[in-house]
Amino acid sequence: MAPFVPRKKLQVEPANPKRVAAPLADTKLIRKPKLGTSRPRKKDIPEGLWTKCTKCGTMIYDKELDENLKVCMHCGYHFQISARERINALVETCSFEEMDASMTSVDILNFKGVASYTEKLKQYQQSTGSKDAVVTGICLIGPYRVGLGVMDFNFLGGSMGTVVGEKLTRLIETCTDRALPLIIISASGGARMYEGMFSLMQMAKTSAALAYHARNRLPYISVLTHPTTAGVMASFASLGDLILAEPGAMIGFAGPRVIKDTTQAELPPGFQTAEFLQQHGLIDDIVPRGEMKQRLINYLGFLTGN
Ligand SMILES: [Zn+2]
Repeated sequence: MAPFVPRKKLQVEPANPKRVAAPLADTKLIRKPKLGTSRPRKKDIPEGLWTKCTKCGTMIYDKELDENLKVCMHCGYHFQISARERINALVETCSFEEMDASMTSVDILNFKGVASYTEKLKQYQQSTGSKDAVVTGICLIGPYRVGLGVMDFNFLGGSMGTVVGEKLTRLIETCTDRALPLIIISASGGARMYEGMFSLMQMAKTSAALAYHARNRLPYISVLTHPTTAGVMASFASLGDLILAEPGAMIGFAGPRVIKDTTQAELPPGFQTAEFLQQHGLIDDIVPRGEMKQRLINYLGFLTGN
């Protein structure tokens, strides 16, 4: 007689969740994947080809994003752009004569933190291909010869140390000497704390150079991009005869949390955005990146009397 073998009972046996989930995945009831079991699609997409828009979440093909000057074509969000890319988009081909390209910061305070200042500088010089956080030079924008300074937020948060201050001051002084209009495009977290007082001095130095430029009745257009804050906003960035900004740029001195804690007051909606500051008279106009070159040409024509 054959030994008794109990028959397997249907539906009582503990189910293997992986096996059960697969065929039922399409039904409405369990469509939502359990926490920890979902596989983000991101993994299937090769890195460096697509970028997810910070504002609307759309996946954008990098090549198309670059062609559109790093502005989302769906919602108009302005991504950060390097100084070199911005210069390429603005100036006439081969017209940019760079100034002080090899000027490099010195670790004057022998600063030591998680990483030393010297190490940080080396690291950012490698990742950005620039010596410091600003590129300056004389160029043609449309028919106008101008001095152009462009800050790069990718280099240590676009912070202003001695090199940024000195390069901008030399640019401003060259414009004064050669009677040229000046355009500075800012993107900065403020003064560079690795250089302490030496970075704070740059605020006064750049402002004084601008005063001489203005005394010669020469125009200065300041363009504020996301973000322009602290010591840079409190010096040359806010001294333009004309102050323009990119849409949605965060612009201010101290951060909103610090202001809220100090004043103990609720901040109005949209506080420290370009749009809010335009309504309150600090900014003259908001110009989308795609229109920037033509608008600068128009303003230069107006300000130089052509
Ligand atoms: Zn978008």
